[in-house]
Amino acid sequence: MANDEMLVFKDVMSLALRQMNKTFYSNKEVFLRELINNASNALDQVQFEGNTHKIISDDRLIRLVPHKANKTLSIIDFGIGLTKEDLAYNLGVGFYSAYLVAYKVIVTSKHNDHDQYIWESQPDASFIVTKDINAQQPSRGTNITLFLYDNQNLSKSSLFLSSGERFQNMEKLPWPSQFPDIIGQLYILGSSSIHGIFCLQAQYRRQHAYLWNPTINEFMVIPPSPFDYVPDYIDVVILYHGFGYDCVRNDYKVIRKLTFLAVTDDDDDDDKLAHDRFTAGCVWEMYSLRSNSWTNLQFGGGIPVCTEVNNKFYLEGMCHWWGYQDQFIEHLVSFDLINNVWMMTPPPLDIPMDAYDNFEMYLVNRELFLLNGSIALISNYAQTTTFYVSILIEVGKKETWTKLLVFGPIPYIRFPIGIGNMSDVLFQTDDGDLAWFDLSTHVLQKLGVNVQGRFSQLVVYKESLIRIEKE
Ligand code: ADP
Repeated sequence: MANDEMLVFKDVMSLALRQMNKTFYSNKEVFLRELINNASNALDQVQFEGNTHKIISDDRLIRLVPHKANKTLSIIDFGIGLTKEDLAYNLGVGFYSAYLVAYKVIVTSKHNDHDQYIWESQPDASFIVTKDINAQQPSRGTNITLFLYDNQNLSKSSLFLSSGERFQNMEKLPWPSQFPDIIGQLYILGSSSIHGIFCLQAQYRRQHAYLWNPTINEFMVIPPSPFDYVPDYIDVVILYHGFGYDCVRNDYKVIRKLTFLAVTDDDDDDDKLAHDRFTAGCVWEMYSLRSNSWTNLQFGGGIPVCTEVNNKFYLEGMCHWWGYQDQFIEHLVSFDLINNVWMMTPPPLDIPMDAYDNFEMYLVNRELFLLNGSIALISNYAQTTTFYVSILIEVGKKETWTKLLVFGPIPYIRFPIGIGNMSDVLFQTDDGDLAWFDLSTHVLQKLGVNVQGRFSQLVVYKESLIRIEKE
C-alpha cells in the first residue's frame, strides 16, 4: 500500500477477545449498551470541549441503523470521534464486546483535528487502520458497522474431511455425539491428529479441552486442574499450546497456560461494567493422559505465548509454537515432552527489508507450519503477497534456518491457513474463498468453500483404531 496509513496488529485483538469472552458470554446484549455508552460519552466530550472547538453539528442523537439484507447494524454518533492512534491503541473491552454478535466490524471515524480513518477487523484476529480517502464533508463522529452472525453461524464450527489426490472429496464430519451443548467455536489443537486422536478445545464458556478419536468415536473430557477453581473476582484465560505424544512413557500430553485476571469492581457507577482488570499471575500446566491429571510446570512468566489457534504443532516428541514475548518479539518455542524442557529459536532473517519501502519489523506476518516433516515458517510483509519460506534444521539454533523458496506475488490472496501433506499451501483469498496453492506448479485452485468472516484451520488426519486409554 502506497500511503503509510496502515497498521496491522496481530494477536492484540485475539487476546482481547479471549479475555472478554468469559466475562461477557452469558450476557450478549451488553454490546449495545457498551457501544451506546461510548457514543454518548463522545457526544458529552464535544459539549465539554465546545468552547475551544467549533461545533459542527449539535446533533445529539445516536442512530441505530439496521440493514436487513446485509445483516448489519450501524451505530452512528456525531461525537468527538477517534483519531488514528485511538483506533490503533485505545479500543478496549467495551468496544470488543461487539464481537459477541458480529464476525466483522468496520469503524469509520473523524476527529475534529484529524483526517477520517477506517478501522477494519480481519478474519485472523488482526486489524487494519487506513485513511479514508473517500471522506468528503468535514463532518465529525463515528460510525460502527457490525456484520452480524447468522444464528446458525454462531452456534457451531463445522468440520470437513477432505480427501483424494487433489483433495476433491469433501464431506462434513460430525462433532462427537457425546459433546455437551457447545455454543461458539471449537478448535483442534495442533495441526494434526496424533495416532488418529484429536485434542479439541472449546473457545466459549468453559475453556475445556477434549480428546477424540473419530474413527472409533471415542471421546473424553480432560479434567480440570485445581487452578480451574478460582474465586469469582478472578477470571482465568486459558491458552492451549500443544498436544503431543511422549513415546518413552507411551503417554499423551497437553500444554497450556492459565492467566489470572483480577477484576476490580467499580462501586461508584453501577451502570458501568467493571473493566479494570490486572494480571494476577500465571501458571503453565501439563496434562498427562496416563495420570489423568495436570502438573504445574514451574516455569516463570518468561515463555513466549501463542494466542493464535494456528501456529502450533507436534513433531517428534516436541510441541512447537510461534510465541510472542512482548508485542513484537517473536520466537519459536519448542517444548520437549519427554524431558520437560523448553528451547527458543529466534526468527530467521527471511524477508529482504530493502525490498519494501519504509520497512517496519512489526508489519511482518509469520505463520508456523509443518512442511514435509520440517518446521517451516512462511513470512510475508504487511499486505503484500510474496511469501518467504524457511525451514529450521536444528531446534534452538537460529543459524540453521534455511531459505527454502519464495513464491508470489499471488493476486487476491490474504494469508496461508495451513500446509497439506503434498506440499500444497491452503490460502484464504480476499473474497473468503479457500484455495490450494501448489508449491511446485504454482497453480492456485479454489476449493469451492467460502469462509468469509470465519476462522478456519487445516489439520492432517489419519484414521486409527487406537483407543484413548488412561492407566
Ligand atoms: P473501555 O472498555 O476501556 O471503556 P472501549 O472500547 O469501550 O474501552 O472504548 C475505548 C476508548 O475508545 C474510549 O475511552 C473512547 O476514548 C474511545 N471511543 C470508543 N467509542 C467511541 C466513539 N463512538 N466516539 C469516540 N470515541 C470513542
